[in-house]
Amino acid sequence: MTTQRGPRQNFKEQHLQAQHLTVQHPKVLFAAPEVAPFSKVGGLGDVTGSLPKALLKCGVDVRVVTPLWPGVMQKIKEAGCKISTLSQRVSVTYAWSVADAAVHRVDSDGVPIYFLEGDYYSGDIYPWDLNSRTVRPFAAFCMQALELEKVTGWSPDIFHCHDWTSAFLPCALAWHRHYRGMKQKSVLTLHNVAHQGMFPPGSFFEESGLDPSCFNIGGLEFYGQVNLLKGGIVSAAAVTTVSPRYAWEIQTYESTQALSGVIYAERRKLTGILNGIDIDYWNPATDPMLPECYSAASPAGKTACRRELLKNTNFDPAYEGPLVVCVSRLVEQKGFDIILPALKQLDSLGAKFIFLGSGQRWIEDALRNAAAANKDSLCFVPGYNEPLAHLLYAGGDIYLMPSLFEPCGLSQMIAMRYGTVPVVREVGGLIDTVTDADADGGGNGFTFLTYDTRGMLWSLRRAIERHSNAKAWNKIRLRGMEEDFSWNRPAALYRDLYRSVL
Ligand code: ADP
Repeated sequence: MTTQRGPRQNFKEQHLQAQHLTVQHPKVLFAAPEVAPFSKVGGLGDVTGSLPKALLKCGVDVRVVTPLWPGVMQKIKEAGCKISTLSQRVSVTYAWSVADAAVHRVDSDGVPIYFLEGDYYSGDIYPWDLNSRTVRPFAAFCMQALELEKVTGWSPDIFHCHDWTSAFLPCALAWHRHYRGMKQKSVLTLHNVAHQGMFPPGSFFEESGLDPSCFNIGGLEFYGQVNLLKGGIVSAAAVTTVSPRYAWEIQTYESTQALSGVIYAERRKLTGILNGIDIDYWNPATDPMLPECYSAASPAGKTACRRELLKNTNFDPAYEGPLVVCVSRLVEQKGFDIILPALKQLDSLGAKFIFLGSGQRWIEDALRNAAAANKDSLCFVPGYNEPLAHLLYAGGDIYLMPSLFEPCGLSQMIAMRYGTVPVVREVGGLIDTVTDADADGGGNGFTFLTYDTRGMLWSLRRAIERHSNAKAWNKIRLRGMEEDFSWNRPAALYRDLYRSVL
């Protein structure tokens, strides 16, 4: 039996199909404070720079919005990207005045990135001191992200937010007088729960337009302060962490500064998805920043990288012993309080060390002093230096990452891809990516559990000893190089998560 379809029925079917399509290909706007390679400060920037490209490949219609911080326009030009400026500015009201921004669009490997240029984005990315005045750029940015569709004509289904810096956005969807009626959903990714965007309320509610009644235990309030991350966790439709292990740890672990209770209460909307790395950018076989490229199948170039690294750091290029490297923010999280005492025992370790990083003054000073006292075995290069970071990953033998806590960690994955064997603490994403070479079946690195210098040295010494056995070392190194750390799997998991919240 055939049935005649009237126009009304057709409309309904088309409408259903359209809805189906929306779910199949969710439209997602990343609202991110930093995006590699334009404004990267750390791993968050790596993720917001590379995950959207992988999402695009697996059927997500994704775009990114980010502030145009000082120096970013220069980076865009250096990258050779074409910039177009939209005819309309995006405009919101914040702190009783107009906060508007010019919107510059750049297409990065097919992903449209909107850079917002406005008065609020004229300082450093992250303020040292948080209060209702210094959070203005982040809150205003989230409101501009919510208004962006008015000037682009492209309306997202989901806003994907990152850490406290864009956690105001889900709060606005829940409690802001202008935005709480919006139909879109938000997803919040926790890259590092140690930073929560906490400050005394001051004039925050009057300035931002958030309903002051959300300043309570079920909302933004946390021990008398505003806690933007808490507000985001409570109000987002879904919350993700950057590794499965971290999702578990932050429900129990004290480094969340007591936020574990809130996270535990919201655990049903929590998913841990291991980060990937951009395997095209981080590829020793094609990396233009290396003096010679190499791969697992043809590893000779790694020796040339090592020589270049030794030369650049004033060591003897002919040195053949173990070379331990570390590229890091110099903050307590990364384990410097257990690394520094170990540097007093350098003579007994039989290795050379190269550290690259910037951050807290006391760590920089301590590394500088240790390097001055151990010129033959320790080099410290202060600052942020992308080309040198590539050379360290490529030229090193052992990558040291004894973090106190580590939500995911990208450096250990990059190191493995470059054939540099990680020595890590068994915590967070480090557990999800590194297995001990002495465990049954063999692993891709060396691990330890107890957070102290002895524990770290126990693993470091095992790695240094194993390095002298070329055949055994090569096996460990190859296991790391053959790991799949691409974004393919994580991107598919994010796509499924987007579909599930729509
Ligand atoms: P986090 O995000 O906590 O800083 P991750 O391991 O997740 O740590 O990511 C760090 C990223 O930042 C890596 O890509 C690493 O190479 C890079 N990085 C950190 N410090 C420096 C530096 N001083 N110079 C160049 N790159 C750096």
